[in-house]
Amino acid sequence: MEVYFRKSYPRSMEGNFGRCYLDDDRVTRDGLSKRIKAFRSFLRDNGIDSKVPFNLPHRVAAARAGMGTFGKNCLFYSNKVARGGSWTLPIAFVIDEAFEPDMPTMEIGCPDWCRNTCIAACPTRALKGNSQIDPRKCISYLSYFGEGITPLELREPMGMFVYGCDRCQNVCPRNQPWLAQGLPMNEKVAAKEDYFELSRLLHMDREYFETKIWPHMFYMSYQDIWRWKMNVARVMGNSRDKKYIVDLVRAFEDNTDERVRGMTAWAIGNIGGQEALTALKGLIDETSDLVKEEIRTAKEFC
Ligand code: SF4
Ligand code: SF4
Repeated sequence: MEVYFRKSYPRSMEGNFGRCYLDDDRVTRDGLSKRIKAFRSFLRDNGIDSKVPFNLPHRVAAARAGMGTFGKNCLFYSNKVARGGSWTLPIAFVIDEAFEPDMPTMEIGCPDWCRNTCIAACPTRALKGNSQIDPRKCISYLSYFGEGITPLELREPMGMFVYGCDRCQNVCPRNQPWLAQGLPMNEKVAAKEDYFELSRLLHMDREYFETKIWPHMFYMSYQDIWRWKMNVARVMGNSRDKKYIVDLVRAFEDNTDERVRGMTAWAIGNIGGQEALTALKGLIDETSDLVKEEIRTAKEFC
C-alpha cells in the first residue's frame, strides 16, 4: 500500500494540482518504481515470482484483500496506513504462491455523522451518492481529458485546480487525522515548484513542456498543450488577481488556438475592473466567432 502523501507539498502546488500527481514517477521512475522493484526482488529471493499489471482494479483488489474500505467519494481508505486516510495507492501484485486470504472489506466505511460532506462539497456534482461517480463531471477528468473550451457554467466551480482535484478528500473527516499533522516537506517536489508557476505554464513552449512538465504530469501530450494553457488561464481568472492581466493579454496574442484565446478573454473579464476592461478593448480577433463572443461576454463582467 503506497502512501503518496507521506510528506507535505508546497502550498502553491497543492492549490492547483491533485496531490497524487505531484510525485508520480511512472515516467521518471525514481521513487515508487524503485520500491516496487525492491519488493519484487525480495519476493524473488524468497522463491516467489511476481508481476505488477497496471490494468488490474487496484482499489477493489485491496478491499477484497481486507486492506480497507471505500468512502462515498469512491476513494479507498486504508485500515492501517495514512491514519486511515485515502492518500493511498493500492498496488496489486500477481504472484505464483497461494496465501490464506483475509476477510474482504468491500464496504463503505463512512460514519453516519459525516452527512455526506464530500457529496455536498463536490463543485461539479460528479458524486452521485450511491457509490458512483460520473467521471465526465469530475474536475480531474475534465482537467486532462475535457473536450473543447470549458463550458461557462463549469469554469468557476473548477476553481483553482489546473490538473486533478482533491476537494472531496480535503473535506473528508476520515482524512483529517493525516491532514492535521505537520509533515516534512517533500524536497523533490519543492524543487519543481518554480516550473509549475502559473505564468510559466501559460507561456510554455514545446521544449519546456516536454522537459519540465510532461515527465511529472503526463496524461496530456504536447498535442493537448492547449488544454494546459486553457486550464491555467481559467485558474488565473478565478484567482481574481489583477497581476495576471498582463500574462493573459500576452497569451491571447501569442496563441492561435481559439480555446486558449477564448479562455484568456473570459479570465480577464472574471478578474474584472477598469484595468481588465481596458485590456479587453485592446484584444483584436478577426476570425473566431467563439473568441468574439467570449470577449463580448467578458466585457459585461467588468
Ligand atoms: S475529485 Fe473533485 S470534482 Fe472529482 S468527485 Fe472529488 S470533489 Fe468532485
Ligand atoms: S466526506 Fe464523509 S461521506 Fe464522504 S468519504 Fe468522507 S466520511 Fe465518507
